[in-house]
Amino acid sequence: MIKFGCVKSPNIYLDNNSTTPMDERVLESMLPFFRYNFGNSASNHHFGKTIKKEVENAREKIGEIIGSSPNEIILTSGATESINLALKGLAFNSGEKRHIITVQTEHKAVLDSCKYLQTIGFEIDYLGVDSLGMIDLSYLKSIIRDDTLVVSVMCANNETGVIQNIKEIGEIVRNSNALFMSDATQAIGKLKINAEENFIDIMCYSAHKFYGPKGIGALYLNRSRINKNMLTPQIHGGGHENGLRSGTSNVPLIIGFAKACEISNLEFPQNQDEIIIMRDYLESELLKIKGVQINGSKIYRLNNTTNISFENIDANVLIGQLNSISISNGSACNSSVFEPSHVLMAMGISKERAYGSVRFSLGKFNSMDEIEISLKMIHKILNNTYHA
Ligand code: PLP
Repeated sequence: MIKFGCVKSPNIYLDNNSTTPMDERVLESMLPFFRYNFGNSASNHHFGKTIKKEVENAREKIGEIIGSSPNEIILTSGATESINLALKGLAFNSGEKRHIITVQTEHKAVLDSCKYLQTIGFEIDYLGVDSLGMIDLSYLKSIIRDDTLVVSVMCANNETGVIQNIKEIGEIVRNSNALFMSDATQAIGKLKINAEENFIDIMCYSAHKFYGPKGIGALYLNRSRINKNMLTPQIHGGGHENGLRSGTSNVPLIIGFAKACEISNLEFPQNQDEIIIMRDYLESELLKIKGVQINGSKIYRLNNTTNISFENIDANVLIGQLNSISISNGSACNSSVFEPSHVLMAMGISKERAYGSVRFSLGKFNSMDEIEISLKMIHKILNNTYHA
């Protein structure tokens, strides 16, 4: 059962790439900032100055997780906003540079921002991936042009967990006139990633993917490569966040974000060791079922994720029947119309297999008991419904 510190749920949560339960210590760190320390960090009096100090300490910790300095961190409402600010902010100020490169398997926050930029005259190249979900680096190199503004490649995919070769991509882009942006939303808290060591110029991440609160994220802008005048703000107002993101700072969430970063920095190796044991066991047991296949690279992959396709099974039916066990099909659903996952389709997986695919994403609050219960439940459903 889910261990939320003192709060227990009878349900099993295996959808940690979607969001994570908040660590109790994160919640505790936030409470005083709801109760007593309510000042506005932009106010020039005792309450304001005290809070400003807290926000700046938090910014330091939020930057530390990717090896950056606090003045390289813009606080936003989450990765979606960071991505929008980065891509549109750069594009609105890009002069002659009107070409962007990204990947077909990116999150919709990147794909839809690019789609929008296309409508106002930008040319976008959407790189394909191979059957394992990896991009071709020599092809990437061949299509970077003098007028390429930014190359945007995510660190780790939210549906398959596939990890791209970020350092090599970073090196390729650093040797061009373009900037390198990486959506690290799924990577932070699961991988150790230093922005500068990987030649990343722009990075986006979000607290709720690693046991922090929802509604708070960061945009990293490499100070030596980007100055604030290169970005047009998307939210105008009081000039907060170095003029790039106006709006009163959401102090409790910022404090919680910093606490999640601090805990992750200290505890992440051990958590990862435990998570991979559970994921590998779950996967090896599921692979014993006839027709089950893993989607994406097994080598370059997050420790917590397995995307699995069942033969002749509708993932939505399985998810519905699992009821008290939460997993995801990773596919976008638009009211009553279910589309197969764009990530799996880009990998060349058939529609049938994509419709039978589910994502298990584990977290530090899961236990081996929960994996055993989930496996039993899946076998029961398959036997009853499909006579597998
Ligand atoms: N990018 C990736 C890879 C994600 O998995 C997500 C969340 O699902 C996002 C961006 C958007 O993050 P947020 O919920 O913080 O806006």
